[in-house]
Amino acid sequence: MNPKTPATGGRPDVIVVGGGIGGLGTAFALAREGLRVRVLEQAPAFGEVGAGLQIAPNCTRILDEYGLLEEAKSLGVLPENMVMRDALDARELTRLDLRDLERRYGFPYMVIHRSDLHGIFLRACERAGVELLTDRTVVGYEHTADGARVRLEDGSVHEAPLVVAADGLHSPARRQLVGDDVVSSDYVAYRAAVPIERVRDNGIAERDVTVYVGPRCHFVQYALRGGEMFNQVAVFESPKALAGQEDWGTPDELDAAFEQTCDTVRKGIPLMWRDRWWRMFDREPIETWVYGRIALLGDAAHPPLQYMAQGAIMAIEDGWVLAKHIARRSTGNGGRPDWDAALASYEAVRVEHCRRVLTTARAWGELWHLDGTERLRRNAIMRARDVHDYSFTDWIYGPTALTPDEEPEMFTPIPLASARIEEIEEIEEIEEDGRMADEPARAPGEAVPVAGGGPA
Ligand SMILES: Cc1cc2nc3c(=O)[nH]c(=O)nc-3n(C[C@H](O)[C@H](O)[C@H](O)COP(=O)(O)OP(=O)(O)OC[C@H]3O[C@@H](n4cnc5c(N)ncnc54)[C@H](O)[C@@H]3O)c2cc1C
Repeated sequence: MNPKTPATGGRPDVIVVGGGIGGLGTAFALAREGLRVRVLEQAPAFGEVGAGLQIAPNCTRILDEYGLLEEAKSLGVLPENMVMRDALDARELTRLDLRDLERRYGFPYMVIHRSDLHGIFLRACERAGVELLTDRTVVGYEHTADGARVRLEDGSVHEAPLVVAADGLHSPARRQLVGDDVVSSDYVAYRAAVPIERVRDNGIAERDVTVYVGPRCHFVQYALRGGEMFNQVAVFESPKALAGQEDWGTPDELDAAFEQTCDTVRKGIPLMWRDRWWRMFDREPIETWVYGRIALLGDAAHPPLQYMAQGAIMAIEDGWVLAKHIARRSTGNGGRPDWDAALASYEAVRVEHCRRVLTTARAWGELWHLDGTERLRRNAIMRARDVHDYSFTDWIYGPTALTPDEEPEMFTPIPLASARIEEIEEIEEIEEDGRMADEPARAPGEAVPVAGGGPA
């Protein structure tokens, strides 16, 4: 890491609203380019609530450039495989060999406690001279002649040539600038990170990320903190949400949703934290993220359903891309950035990339949660995938594009109907007479959208 030294004090070049992973990642990226950055966070202290995060090579590549990867690796875990299993019968459907994946993309697939990653960015911001202010709730955004201004709840006003709104899923900035609403998926997530000793007898795979996909539910497991802790996420569709009830996603629904699942999954359910759950929302993709000198970033711009495990990654990529364009547009003008040109370049590349992730995440979630014959068709297609077929990950795990022409082609989805019906019947026979051999049904020549990681 060789950050240019930002000048401190006085009017900042950039105000970042929100000190989550997206806000701090962006503040650090900008400070590295020599900009004076002020972060305004509403909470009384910087921090993150939740458990694990999966960080794919498109983000570990950026952490490496920032000089933060070694610290992240020392706090996280590099799993060996990502294995997808059927949640009902536990049979393996497909896997990514994460060592081979690292060779292909040049950077590792990592899992890390979200507070550890957040802490890495917080310390990096401190070292880089970012002005970090807590207890600052932004209530309004305004345009000025040469930038933008934010109004705070306490009546104070902060101004800069650029304001980045990284204020999350329920972004007040987005409410003011766009006015759209979040979209409920009627799914809810329960999380838990427990000492590994508590799950050792549950039939877990300590060195893998395992995703069990089942009818209207899925369950994710992986180790954290050098293998000392074990992270579990249980996600299900809430019948109460579908019925329009207010109090949806309650623990009784959690228990009912996983009743039919395999042993390993059922053993994990009593360990889930029951005093807090996360209702799953996203938003429709939007084409405009930049309003004058106010730019939306991270979940404020593109909150995904978490099925691709790319939400925090996209936020970190946004900051990296924005900082690169500001740096590129800072030459020949007495060192002053051409903010508008940089913002246009940011929007030109990130909007489409994130739209792809958002829509793929929705499709991916539907695929995971299939039931009946469709579940069997999905399983047949997934089992047919060659473990070293990366046609479904190249569009996402490669280097982050800085310009639209660098954005890779998307994969071609495989229709469920293409699963060969005789093989599905074969699976049903196997299940009926209980042979359940590990021998996968093969559909040569077919592949499956292993489009990214599982949710944290
Ligand atoms: C169950 C689950 C699993 C996930 N797993 C993964 C994963 O494996 N990998 C991955 O990449 N992503 C994952 N995600 C997504 C990821 O958590 C989010 O996309 C990411 O945290 C968004 O970061 P952000 O900084 O944009 O927003 P946030 O983290 O929401 O931060 C917004 C910040 O803005 C502050 N703020 C809000 N309003 C104001 C205001 N008015 N004034 C000042 N401050 C304000 C908030 O206090 C907060 O600190 C997962 C999400 C869920 C729910």
